[in-house]
Amino acid sequence: MIISPGEAAAQERLEEFTNKAITEYQEQRNFPAVDGTSQLSAALKFGVIGIRTVWQATLEALENSRSEETAVNIRTWQQELAWREFYQHAMYNFPELADGAFRDTFKNFPWETNEEHFQAWCEGRTGYPIVDAAMRQMNESGWMHNRCRMIVASFLTKDLLINPQLGEKYFMQHLIDGDLSANNGGWQWSASSGMDPKPVRIFNPASQTQKFDPEGEYIRQWVSELRSVDTEYLVTGKIPSLERHAVGYPEPIVDHKIQQQQFKLRYQQQKLLSSGE
Ligand SMILES: Cc1cc2nc3c(=O)[nH]c(=O)nc-3n(C[C@H](O)[C@H](O)[C@H](O)COP(=O)(O)OP(=O)(O)OC[C@H]3O[C@@H](n4cnc5c(N)ncnc54)[C@H](O)[C@@H]3O)c2cc1C
Repeated sequence: MIISPGEAAAQERLEEFTNKAITEYQEQRNFPAVDGTSQLSAALKFGVIGIRTVWQATLEALENSRSEETAVNIRTWQQELAWREFYQHAMYNFPELADGAFRDTFKNFPWETNEEHFQAWCEGRTGYPIVDAAMRQMNESGWMHNRCRMIVASFLTKDLLINPQLGEKYFMQHLIDGDLSANNGGWQWSASSGMDPKPVRIFNPASQTQKFDPEGEYIRQWVSELRSVDTEYLVTGKIPSLERHAVGYPEPIVDHKIQQQQFKLRYQQQKLLSSGE
């Protein structure tokens, strides 16, 4: 995606989105290979377009909607705009969020210090196709699809057991829409360290791919060495070693199953410690 700068471009994008894609937003927003979201985040971040202008456009779209189904899609998009407001209010009222975890369980969490793993994550060389595609999308274009932001953030914290603050910082250095509150909120949501009541949320890269990139279209777009690899291998992540070697794609740097158990164990220990039991 190329983000066009300037107010006129943002107005045009808003009009285009609220005339069409918004009516299918609820479903389409989840597929990173589909142009199903507004891509207005950078314009909103820099104030190129105002939130009231955007909100007014949703009210007009609701007024013009001809079915309950369309209205549901528009309301779903309104809820995303509300997340932005929520995180801004959270940061305003709890500025300490910028320095680390909101929940006590994560305040002294024993994160790993593994520079090699962190670099592999940053550069899109983890051996997990969907994670690598997403990181390369951000490194090359300055934007990453929301579904993929959640996948890579979960991977850094729950698979590599690396402190979310490192990921948060890397995102701020590479996203055009990089925004203190939204980025911090997204990272704390993904790391399970924030205000969200769900205690532990772990994304499985393979099942996320099967649901949201079932043909491996997004992976092939961003990981050029995997373009000729069978879809079945891409979506399960089970690419044979010989094939990985032949196309120059790395082996998985960790085992998802083992790492998520490790995360859960540490989480339970920290929970006991932080509750003083
Ligand atoms: C780990 C992580 C980091 C993130 N970092 C940022 C960031 O630095 N800047 C940023 O603007 N968004 C961030 N987000 C939220 C979200 O991914 C982006 O706002 C969205 O992908 C931008 O694409 P869009 O404009 O097409 O969104 P759309 O789906 O069209 O949504 C419309 C607008 O609503 C707001 N919005 C949507 N989802 C969220 C959300 N979950 N949290 C806050 N606002 C939201 C954005 O302003 C967005 O432009 C992050 C999410 C995660 C999980």
